[in-house]
Amino acid sequence: MDTPPRTAELVVIGGGIVGAATAFYAARAGIRSVLIEARPALCTLTTPVSTGAFRLQFSTEEELRLVEESVALFRNFAEVTGQDEYDPAIRSQGYLWLTRSPGRAAEQRDLVERQHGWGVTDIELLDGDEVRRRFPYVAADVLQARFRAGDGFIDTRAVTMGLATASGATVVTGCRAEGFDIAGDRLRAVRTSLGTIETERAVIACGPLSGGVAGWAGIDLPIQTVRRHKLVMPDVPQVPAGAPMTIDEDSGAHWRPALRGAWLLFTDPTTPPSEPTDTVPADPGFAFELLDPASPTAVARTAPFWAGVWERNAAHWMVQAGQYTMTPDHWPLIGETGVGGLYVNTGYSGHGIMLSPAGSRRLADLLSGGLAPADNIFRPDREPRPRPPEAL
Ligand SMILES: Cc1cc2nc3c(=O)[nH]c(=O)nc-3n(C[C@H](O)[C@H](O)[C@H](O)COP(=O)(O)OP(=O)(O)OC[C@H]3O[C@@H](n4cnc5c(N)ncnc54)[C@H](O)[C@@H]3O)c2cc1C
Repeated sequence: MDTPPRTAELVVIGGGIVGAATAFYAARAGIRSVLIEARPALCTLTTPVSTGAFRLQFSTEEELRLVEESVALFRNFAEVTGQDEYDPAIRSQGYLWLTRSPGRAAEQRDLVERQHGWGVTDIELLDGDEVRRRFPYVAADVLQARFRAGDGFIDTRAVTMGLATASGATVVTGCRAEGFDIAGDRLRAVRTSLGTIETERAVIACGPLSGGVAGWAGIDLPIQTVRRHKLVMPDVPQVPAGAPMTIDEDSGAHWRPALRGAWLLFTDPTTPPSEPTDTVPADPGFAFELLDPASPTAVARTAPFWAGVWERNAAHWMVQAGQYTMTPDHWPLIGETGVGGLYVNTGYSGHGIMLSPAGSRRLADLLSGGLAPADNIFRPDREPRPRPPEAL
């Protein structure tokens, strides 16, 4: 619609995957949404920049359970959403975490044992020879890998659009939330660039911009935004099209087949937070950190064919950037804020594609009363939990 209605049962602010999933699960709980998106189209900020990857290989059981639930949705998307216009194009090509370090290999063994204990028994530990037998492109000095064949990739645009369509929400693009009317400690209305929507409930699902939006209501969310790049190489014949997400667990550099080439990434844990923005500047120099074989984070260190791609220097590339919305313990913030009726669904800390469908189902349960706030482990005012360091 061109303009929002004057009233709404629920206003969902933000039209990335989190907003779309929120509207979808709210609809399943019997709650109709008005979904407003500031930009001219849905799915145009962080969600389309992502790698679109999902994995059960997590280091906490709680996140693993969320991904399990999200993957069930991806695998049964048409049936669960009741629409077949958008297909998530799920590709189960696996996640392969490589190490050349004996210390890291020991950590991998501990982690896989814990993961097996959580019931994910199809995660394999492969020694170097077995890795190279299955994945001949892997370097000779790789000692060990952990691998799960069922992990993989989805089309994030299709999932977002499918969820938005199936939600039956009234969608208004080009409509920016600009403030809230609050009486006492309860939400009364969302003010937008296209008029005020009276409502008793709204969800902030604004990705990296969520902190500023919550701030209008006096809510201080514990989130920081950190820039992340993606190197897009649309046509690289040397990339095995059936390869898994291939991760150098020692450096954090990783790549996956995409288009007729690959997407390549590197999650530098020392990157400082940056101001939240909807125009994230991309640094073209990022490409060299991954492609130049002399770089400590070169993908050629674990997959030497990349050195040949660099030497030949004939492949086109471009660099995209988005922001991770990080919380202190990397768990999302899902639930009601200190303002009655004002909820948040954000802070997915780099995992919003694979975690947010299940996270949004929990939010819908909170809205419908199916989940008591006290039982919600992702509530926004929780004490941050300690967590093990992770490469991605
Ligand atoms: C390089 C990169 C790679 C990634 N790879 C993966 C991956 O492989 N797997 C994975 O699970 N996750 C991945 N992620 C993380 C994932 O992309 C995010 O967690 C997810 O997209 C967040 O979705 P969102 O809907 O919260 O945010 P967004 O997609 O940013 O959507 C938020 C929307 O809110 C809108 N908005 C903001 N303010 C307002 C306002 N005032 N009024 C109205 N609308 C507003 C914005 O315009 C935007 O459209 C990656 C992220 C990056 C940057």
